[in-house]
Amino acid sequence: MPLMAATINFDEALAELEQLQHTDMQSAITKLHELEADFEHMTRFQQGRLLVFKGTSFIYAGQYQEALETLIQSENLVQNSDYLFSAYSYEATAYIALRNFKNAFMVMSKSLALINRIESIDIKRASYLRLASLYSAMSVTDEVGTYASKALSLASAHDVKDICTAKLYLSVYQLELEAYDKAFDAFQSTRLFCEANGYPLISFIALKGMGESKLRLQEYSTSVTLLLSALKGYESFNFQLEINSTHALLAETYLALKSYAKTTEHAQYVANLPDGTSYTALKHAVFKVLAEQSAENAQFEQAYEYSKKEQYYNQLMFDEAKMKTLAYQAAKFNADEQSREINLLNKERELYVAQQTVKEREYTNMLMFVTILVGGLFFLGILLAVGQMQKRKFMRMARMDALTGILNRGAGQELGENLFVQATARGGDFCVILFDLDFFKRINDSFGHGTGDWALKKVVDSLKSHIRNGDVFARIGGEEFAILLPYADEDKGMEVAEQCRARIEAIDTQHSGHKFVITASFGVSGLMADDLSLDPLFHRADMALYAAKANGRNAVVRYSDILKCDKQATDLRRHIASPSV
Ligand code: GH3
Ligand code: MG
Ligand code: MG
Repeated sequence: MPLMAATINFDEALAELEQLQHTDMQSAITKLHELEADFEHMTRFQQGRLLVFKGTSFIYAGQYQEALETLIQSENLVQNSDYLFSAYSYEATAYIALRNFKNAFMVMSKSLALINRIESIDIKRASYLRLASLYSAMSVTDEVGTYASKALSLASAHDVKDICTAKLYLSVYQLELEAYDKAFDAFQSTRLFCEANGYPLISFIALKGMGESKLRLQEYSTSVTLLLSALKGYESFNFQLEINSTHALLAETYLALKSYAKTTEHAQYVANLPDGTSYTALKHAVFKVLAEQSAENAQFEQAYEYSKKEQYYNQLMFDEAKMKTLAYQAAKFNADEQSREINLLNKERELYVAQQTVKEREYTNMLMFVTILVGGLFFLGILLAVGQMQKRKFMRMARMDALTGILNRGAGQELGENLFVQATARGGDFCVILFDLDFFKRINDSFGHGTGDWALKKVVDSLKSHIRNGDVFARIGGEEFAILLPYADEDKGMEVAEQCRARIEAIDTQHSGHKFVITASFGVSGLMADDLSLDPLFHRADMALYAAKANGRNAVVRYSDILKCDKQATDLRRHIASPSV
């Protein structure tokens, strides 16, 4: 035998075994015994597969306890495979046969949990079939139809075995509804389909169903033929459970046909079975048959004895029905609890998702709000800034001289007044310089206004950089400018004025396209004791300016010097009265 371990491909052998169980159970069992000798040489998974098959064969043989032990043993070996589902579902079958409905439901829920985890259509379909099987055994008729239909709806054309099984359950469903004509047609269709597709065992079960339907339709001879044919089929598979039930049905049919010898033969077969929970219904049925047969044959004492047995099994059946009902209710309660829990979980999940959505929305809203806020503020800020800039621009425009870019007369005067107050309040000095470009009219006249403008700008540019930050430079007329010097005395003013005069005189005019000399006349006036505002300083500076003009232009004159010279004063007065060109 150890030699075989090296030569046998166990996977192939097991696949062959699994295939054989649907067609030739005897050969399958022979093969099983051969393989069992090499059990030690197999992988754990192969051992598991072998045990699942062995468990199944025990079920076929009606050895449910052994089946359970074997299948439970296989569980660990076939973890994480479809075989675990097979193990569970066959365990359920065994538990049903042993009338342990509670465990049947328990193992079914384990297989369902497995299905929920796997989520494959194939396994789902298989699970519906198992449920149909379970409910059939539990006599919960409606559910048989429901789950068989569900299984059938999940089957593709190539899922022949499942279609076959589903069709069988739908037939059983009709039988349990006592729609015997429909049941017969359904069983016949099932038999033809399953036989044609290589599932003779199911086709024999369908054949038995056809026989039972005919029995209920009181077509006894047809029923006998069908049932006998089914029995022969079962015997080839050694399918004990079905063999027993077929014997019971045959007893009933032969009684109806008044074939008493045959009735006794089939009835006794069932009556002689060991007392076990799985045979209760069958024993009740055959003792009822035997009692009736005895009564028909006027064997009243015998009839009474059978009747007592019938009552006994009836009580057991009643208890079993009660058990089924209780188990069903418990299972239903568990299932309801489970679905309640699942619903609860789903609700929680929904709630969580909803919360997440709300959170996301809140976040989005917040982001949007912040964006709007920030954007708004930003926009507002820009508006404000632009506004401010506009305002400043307008203010500047209002304060600035457009041509030269320095303060205009009003702004210069206003700023000058403020600085004057600040400086004098602190005991500081103040000096005003006024200057007027010489013969400017001639420049305009000789070279045009454009050159005149250019000259104005050039004068300002050449002086701007020379004027201190705290000083004021303003254009106070057409070609007339003022320079205000806070904290500066007249001497300082004279110094600045002379520098400015020299700079103007030094301007190179060739970039204007013309060659000419720009000069200016300056009047300077420092602060005097009685001065309360800029006005007297401006006035005195203006007088000095005119003195400069009168003195030949391109000159700087201080007001204090005018007063020293009466002649100059006289000339000045004359100049003011009639200014020379
Ligand atoms: P004086 O030396 O006596 O000051 O002679 P003047 O020609 O400079 O004096 P007047 O006041 O007679 O002429 C000033 C001229 O300046 C008249 C005017 O056309 C010109 N003017 C005033 N503002 C502007 C200006 O913005 N651009 C130009 N191109 N010319 C101006
Ligand atoms: Mg002038
Ligand atoms: Mg002028």
